[in-house]
Amino acid sequence: MLDLRNIHKSFFIGTPNEFEVLHGVNFNVKEGEFVSIVGQSGSGKSTLMNIIGALDRPTDGEYTLDGVDIQKAKDHELSILRNKKIGFVFQTYNLIARTSALKNVELPMMYAGMSKGERADKARFLLEEVGMKDRMMHKPDELSGGQKQRVAIARAMANDPAIILADEPTGALDSATGRLIMDIFHKLHEEQGKTIVLITHSPELSQETERIITLKDGSIIGESAGNWQGLKAKEDA
Ligand code: ADP
Ligand code: MG
Repeated sequence: MLDLRNIHKSFFIGTPNEFEVLHGVNFNVKEGEFVSIVGQSGSGKSTLMNIIGALDRPTDGEYTLDGVDIQKAKDHELSILRNKKIGFVFQTYNLIARTSALKNVELPMMYAGMSKGERADKARFLLEEVGMKDRMMHKPDELSGGQKQRVAIARAMANDPAIILADEPTGALDSATGRLIMDIFHKLHEEQGKTIVLITHSPELSQETERIITLKDGSIIGESAGNWQGLKAKEDA
C-alpha cells in the first residue's frame, strides 16, 4: 500500500545551506495494517507525514502509494491522488467552522464530483458509524473536542481512502475521550479492514497498533510489534 525507499527530505534554509530532516527512510505498510510512527518532537514526524500524504515531495528516494509512483506524478495529479487515496485526521480537527458536521463530511465528496443526494446519504451513514447520529446538524463550535474528532474521522472516510493518515489525533483530548477515538480507529481497522497510519509522540499510544516504526532524528531506528492484541485480551478478560 505504501512503500518508501531511501527517502530524504531537505529544506533550503538560505544559501548555501540545506538542512536535511529525513536521512534515508525505508518502510512499507501493507493493505489492512494498523501501523504507528512514533518519535519525539522534532524527529521529523510531520515532515514524513507530509510526504506520506503527498502534501510534499521527497528530495530524494522513491515513494509508491497504492501503486502510484509519487515522484513521477505531476503536481495537479498529486492533489487528485490525495483526495482519492488518503483520509487525513489532524490533532486540530481542521473542520470548517461555519458549516454543519454533515456538510463538513460532504465536502470531500463534493470535490470528488458525487451527486448531492448521494453524498448526503453517505455523510449521514459515516456520521452514524462514528456515533454522531444526533449531532449532524451542529456546527463544530457546538461540539466537544471528541465530537469534532469523530466528525473529522467521518470526513476522512468520505471518499473510501486507501489509507487513513492520523497525526496526533488524540493529542488535544483528555485520555478518556482519546480512548474513544482510538476505539473508532480499531473498529474501522477490524470491521472494514482499513489501512491506518497513526503518527504520535506517545510510545504508550503506539502500543495500541499492530506495528510500531520508531523515528529518531530523521532516521528509523527500529520496528517492533505493538501490543494491541494483548491490550484487547486484557480488556476482554
Ligand atoms: P515532528 O513532527 O516530529 O515534531 P518535524 O517534522 O515538524 O518534527 O520537524 C523536524 C525538523 O525539521 C525540525 O528540526 C524542524 O525545525 C525542521 N523543519 C521542519 N519543517 C521545516 C521547514 N519547512 N524548513 C526548515 N526546517 C524545517
Ligand atoms: Mg509534528
